Amino acid sequence: MTSIPQDADVLVVGAGPAGSAAGHYLAQLGHRVIVLEKSTFPRDKICGDGLTPIAVRELIRMGVPMDPADGWMRNKGLRVVGGGHEIHLPWPESTSFPNYGMAKARTSFDEVLARHAQATGAELREGTTVTAPILNERSGRIIGVRARGRNEDGTRGEEYELRAPIVIEAGGVAARIATAMGIEKDERRPMGVAVRTYFRSPRHDDEWMESQLELWDGPRERSNLLPGYGWIFPLGDGTVNVGLGSVSSTAKATKLDYRELFRTWMKNAPESWEFTPENQLGPVRSAALPMAFNRQPLYTKGLMLVGDAGGMVSPFNGEGIGVGLMAGRVAADVASQALVRASAYGYEKALRAYPEAMRAEFGGYYSLGRIFVKLIENPAVMRLCTRYGLPRPTLMKFVHKLLSDGYERRGGETMDRLIVALSKMVPAA
Ligand SMILES: Cc1cc2nc3c(=O)[nH]c(=O)nc-3n(C[C@H](O)[C@H](O)[C@H](O)COP(=O)(O)OP(=O)(O)OC[C@H]3O[C@@H](n4cnc5c(N)ncnc54)[C@H](O)[C@@H]3O)c2cc1C
Repeated sequence: MTSIPQDADVLVVGAGPAGSAAGHYLAQLGHRVIVLEKSTFPRDKICGDGLTPIAVRELIRMGVPMDPADGWMRNKGLRVVGGGHEIHLPWPESTSFPNYGMAKARTSFDEVLARHAQATGAELREGTTVTAPILNERSGRIIGVRARGRNEDGTRGEEYELRAPIVIEAGGVAARIATAMGIEKDERRPMGVAVRTYFRSPRHDDEWMESQLELWDGPRERSNLLPGYGWIFPLGDGTVNVGLGSVSSTAKATKLDYRELFRTWMKNAPESWEFTPENQLGPVRSAALPMAFNRQPLYTKGLMLVGDAGGMVSPFNGEGIGVGLMAGRVAADVASQALVRASAYGYEKALRAYPEAMRAEFGGYYSLGRIFVKLIENPAVMRLCTRYGLPRPTLMKFVHKLLSDGYERRGGETMDRLIVALSKMVPAA
């Protein structure tokens, strides 16, 4: 497409799950790909560390080794606590997904994925911050990026340029390159905020991921309901990931004091977990969850957005790893189709398949998710659902499939077909 010497076929900004997946698949498809990551591994990422079957399916597809001896904790499903009920919802056995989820601390998870991409053939440059896009003056297309590495003594290195016809923005919620190209987040789409920390716990190898739909500020009979929902995800290595969050149907900042909420919740959490100050490992840290494709277009002028950069976290359950891995795969596939086209018209046409593919997979589902967030924003609705919904097994099986994105897009049982039908009844997000 261009006569200027290229450093790579594709540049990927960020080596989180979405960027590493893109790097892995591009390398597998025989392309020259450079993944630029501002941190050096291992690095932390504020997250619940939970992997639903959709994420596990993507990891299996990538060929990531997941030996339990290497800290890959398998779980059977979700234990939901609320409204005086406690129910267990096993991950269903289905055609497309394995019937188990997993959990792994992001400190090691992200490094495993990045090294996997590297082993496949992607060039990984750690300690390299992408500072700006390089644009073609006439067309405004991205033709490369400016990046800054670090010197051997840790000081900031010189800024330099890298050129490639396609850039994948996988820089997470900040989406620095997309923002610099004028792709702003849509304030009318849902946004979550969550905090988490780790505890040593005797229940670190509990085989269920726990979701608490109600958080109380004291013994239940004589106390108040706190805003937000909590999770307890055992990691099998002596520790559990514990967090709470809330979601709002728009990006307006919520005024909750999450750390204080967390402290109050911990004081009243079941003793069996032993969430004592002595067992707490590290501070309570917070981060945002951009949801329901809150940054679009997902492709424009040579730039593709994957993962949190494209606001891909599910408004139903706050998960973004599975969809991020999938977006990396789809973006790599689309890029490889474009790179072999002989005409500029064919090249651009091929790249436009990316947002179409993501919308086809998640558009209707995320529109339903926006309605869901509007409903549960109202505590009275949430309380009614918890009290009267949880004891109904068939309803809960349906809700479980819906909330965990665990439904079959084609075929499946009546419930799967109902979710597909519902997601087609709303305009795609
Ligand atoms: C508290 C909390 C709990 C969560 N729990 C879960 C959960 O249990 N399960 C789940 O599936 N999802 C969960 N999520 C969502 C999940 O963390 C994200 O959706 C996921 O990390 C998105 O992956 P990503 O690759 O798009 O972005 P990220 O994981 O954010 O990775 C982006 C990468 O880009 C790098 N980067 C950024 N800017 C630049 C730059 N300019 N130059 C170079 N590199 C750059 C960053 O260092 C980072 O490594 C949670 C989120 C939060 C906040």
